[in-house]
Amino acid sequence: MKNVTLLGAGLVGSLLAVYMRRRGYAVDIYERRPDLRKADAYGGRSINLALSDRGFRALEKVGLADEVRSVGIPMYGRMMHDEKGQLSYQAYGKEGQAIYSVSRGGLNFKMMDLAENEGVRIHFNMRSTEVDLDEKIVHFEKGDTRQKMSVPYELLFGSDGAFSALRGSFQKRDRFDYSQDYLSAGYKELTIPAGPGGTFRMEKNALHIWPRGSYMMIALPNPDGSFTCTLFFPFDGPDSFASLKTREDVAGFFNRTMPDAVALMPTLLDDYFNNPTSSLVTVKCSPWIHENHSALIGDAAHAIVPFYGQGMNCGFEDVFVLDELINQYGEDWSQILPAYQQSRKPDGDAIADLAKANFIEMRDKVADADFLLRKKIESKIYQLYPEKWIPLYTMVTFSPDIRYAEALRLGQVQDRIMDEVMARPDIRLNWEDAATTTFIHNLMTHYDKN
Ligand SMILES: Cc1cc2nc3c(=O)[nH]c(=O)nc-3n(C[C@H](O)[C@H](O)[C@H](O)COP(=O)(O)OP(=O)(O)OC[C@H]3O[C@@H](n4cnc5c(N)ncnc54)[C@H](O)[C@@H]3O)c2cc1C
Repeated sequence: MKNVTLLGAGLVGSLLAVYMRRRGYAVDIYERRPDLRKADAYGGRSINLALSDRGFRALEKVGLADEVRSVGIPMYGRMMHDEKGQLSYQAYGKEGQAIYSVSRGGLNFKMMDLAENEGVRIHFNMRSTEVDLDEKIVHFEKGDTRQKMSVPYELLFGSDGAFSALRGSFQKRDRFDYSQDYLSAGYKELTIPAGPGGTFRMEKNALHIWPRGSYMMIALPNPDGSFTCTLFFPFDGPDSFASLKTREDVAGFFNRTMPDAVALMPTLLDDYFNNPTSSLVTVKCSPWIHENHSALIGDAAHAIVPFYGQGMNCGFEDVFVLDELINQYGEDWSQILPAYQQSRKPDGDAIADLAKANFIEMRDKVADADFLLRKKIESKIYQLYPEKWIPLYTMVTFSPDIRYAEALRLGQVQDRIMDEVMARPDIRLNWEDAATTTFIHNLMTHYDKN
């Protein structure tokens, strides 16, 4: 049995380590950062993520799903806030279906604890600088001293995130495809603190959105009653990070565009100027593997923008699929790694494209009357053809048996059908009548053939 070396003890690396350890592999993780469990690494701030069914399925296999679900906060739908502070609500799925707001740090710490309890060794302050793929050696710089170290490996996974060192070494090889694509918008985290006695000052069980066309803010609940808000905002232009220079600019902008949120954000101006502005990148690359001994996983293989809430979920699914392939091929890594790449690469590409498209839906379309009508008609079709027509969001978020690539393909078929329905004369008035239902029925007979 080969020894397994992982670069990066983030969300995906620590989960993969638990999976491999449970199979009896000796596992070492080398992590660039210090052990954040020993410090108040998040400065009291809680950064949260939406965990959904694909992620839960992978956690289930190592017995973590129930525990994580019990500390997460279910969000059953989107709560939209308009410029006047008026609210409208769209459920994400069927009754009881929810995505869960979980603490990024809390989940990562829990998985590192579990990995160590299983016997995984985590070496902190070890930044991988280069991987020699011919000699099978990883080179590191250790902590602040920048002392150099080299460690041989047998089977190596790069779970070292969007700026992966292993991927950097793949990139120096012949015939490695790579693309990186930054959005013109970045993001900044802000806070809505808890109300008196740890109460929630907005609806607790929803993901809140302030959609404003070229930008938006979202807020996810935390167990202590606070919400972590993220402003997705263009770097340049009339309303942008560049245009808000002073405290007056920021106060003026928020009062004009999101007055109901401002009333709940006493530290808005300090948060705005103290918290970093970060960029959003999509990375696609190929191949994800090298021979039978090295592979990329998680964001290292497919960094995507966060608008479908799927980056971590997709990385967890990588681990789940890899594990199924180990079941299939046993110890034969010369079969497992190519099968892993063949299976996951189309799905990584698909969710990257879906995530970009969802930015436009979230910031812009969710407030649009035609879009809301489309959604109403779509739920009607879903009721009429529950076996055939599963809404795209449901396929991506609540249907782990449907691959991302298949969800993307079916979503495109549905879009074409919806375009035809929406092009009918007076659709706003007659969308519920018998003639429209017959029209939809005729289109649906061709659904599978599209
Ligand atoms: C604003 C935002 C919101 C998001 N929201 C969601 C969401 O709601 N739902 C969701 O599913 N996903 C979300 N994501 C995506 C999610 O954060 C990532 O997909 C996920 O963190 C990927 O996990 P990972 O382990 O692959 O990488 P990371 O979490 O980035 O972990 C990589 C680890 O490797 C370490 N490392 C890096 N370089 C080196 C090196 N050279 N040597 C050694 N160690 C190294 C890092 O310190 C880190 O610990 C969001 C992302 C952003 C930016």
